[in-house]
Amino acid sequence: MGKRKLTYSSIRTFRNCRRQYFNRVERQLVPIDTDSNLRIGSMFHECLERWGRLELDGVSRDDTAVAAILDHLDRAYPNRAGDPEQNRQWHLVRSMFLGYIRQYTEEPFRFVAVEKVFDCPIVNPTTGCPSRTFRMAGKVDGLVQMKETGEYFVLEHKSSAVLTGANIEKLPLDLQVLMYTHYMAQAAEIPIVGVIYDVVVKAQLKQKQGEDEEQYQIRKAELAAKSKSKKSSAKRQIPESNENFQDRLAQKYSDPAMFHREILYVSQEDIDEVVAEVWALTQQLLQAHREGHWYRNDSMCFQYGRPCAYFPLCRSGGNPNVIENLYERRPPHSELATNGDDSPAF
Ligand code: SF4
Repeated sequence: MGKRKLTYSSIRTFRNCRRQYFNRVERQLVPIDTDSNLRIGSMFHECLERWGRLELDGVSRDDTAVAAILDHLDRAYPNRAGDPEQNRQWHLVRSMFLGYIRQYTEEPFRFVAVEKVFDCPIVNPTTGCPSRTFRMAGKVDGLVQMKETGEYFVLEHKSSAVLTGANIEKLPLDLQVLMYTHYMAQAAEIPIVGVIYDVVVKAQLKQKQGEDEEQYQIRKAELAAKSKSKKSSAKRQIPESNENFQDRLAQKYSDPAMFHREILYVSQEDIDEVVAEVWALTQQLLQAHREGHWYRNDSMCFQYGRPCAYFPLCRSGGNPNVIENLYERRPPHSELATNGDDSPAF
């Protein structure tokens, strides 16, 4: 039997909560309701992948190229005219993509590869021997070379609901940054010096829905009741058109604060540390397998401001009916098959 693949996402899940790892990787359970945030991140990655490939293919990044990517996005949300959620996501991804390419018109790097996969041995740092059980796999958004210095960097794109100083401050310690630098350098056999970490904030704007005649009359009557004249000149609110909403979003994404680019150099000491950490985690994973003990970490149940995807299952004590109704089985390591990894930015 071949070695089992680990990824940044799976090893991070194991480190955060072993029960979550057990549910996702060993039992292969995922919630039936796909998280819309993941879909937005995945579509945004798809657009940027196509944008990066243009340079690799020697195709001009002109209006025609942009229109082709937007056309791809249109086809990804075929029911947006009648489905409010598809419409919301389409607007957001479209404006994020257009804002991004406007923000980074001239890049200081050239693309070497996009969506580059790695699959490497996990090495015991004490003996130098590879693990007999596990390999490390992953996919980086881009591999780039600086035009001025010739240095190689991994390029990672993230979309995030918020962007705080603390999130950026801790990036030098980020497991993904360190792992991707090390394993991608190993796989590509080039000296990668760090990661260019691009974060795009997801705008919180909402498309104005307008009001029907009944809603309008109620609002008008309420306003009239509050006025001295007992009259109101309020006009009926009409739904905001797609064009107007896109204009408002474009205005939002003209603000540089909606983007952050962090260029991180990774030291050999940090690489040594992450190699040792990954090895230690593989040993703990083997032990969890041997003992069949996947303990819970309740401090992670409400991380990222929402319940963990497995909260209903843990809360029910592992009730099979909850599995039947709320989860389906899907192979792990979805980030290797789709665009972008499925972990939150921060
Ligand atoms: S609900 Fe809490 S304990 Fe259960 S898997 Fe999620 S993080 Fe772990």
